[in-house]
Amino acid sequence: MTDCLFCKIVEGKIPSKKVYEDDKVFAFEDVNPQAPTHILLVPKRHFEGLNKAVPEDAEILGYLQLVAAKIGRERGIEDGYRTVLNVGPRSGQSVFHLHLHLIGGRDMTWPPG
Ligand code: 5GP
Ligand code: ZN
Repeated sequence: MTDCLFCKIVEGKIPSKKVYEDDKVFAFEDVNPQAPTHILLVPKRHFEGLNKAVPEDAEILGYLQLVAAKIGRERGIEDGYRTVLNVGPRSGQSVFHLHLHLIGGRDMTWPPG
């Protein structure tokens, strides 16, 4: 999609600190980290958000979680991290290309705000 910030990051048109890439997923450091580890994982194919998901998206949604778990293992944060999808403006979603937040490396509170 031409006018999407995260599509531009995936395509390398906007710089980012890449953490992981394969044929389906691109992961990069969040520019405004909320914890020592704060990584965004995005499907390379433009996809607006979980509220627009269809059954064919099941594989990529699960795969994003598995890649997050792999990064969590590599970062040594398996004693506590969160994977978070903000869905829709009231949740705080501000970029409408689906992205899984991987947040960890500090104590978390519950419930999230
Ligand atoms: P949302 O609020 O939509 O769930 O999350 C969007 C996230 O993208 C925010 O955590 C924000 O800091 C991050 N973000 C916004 N613009 C950029 C950018 O240009 N580069 C990077 N690396 N992260 C960004
Ligand atoms: Zn996009």
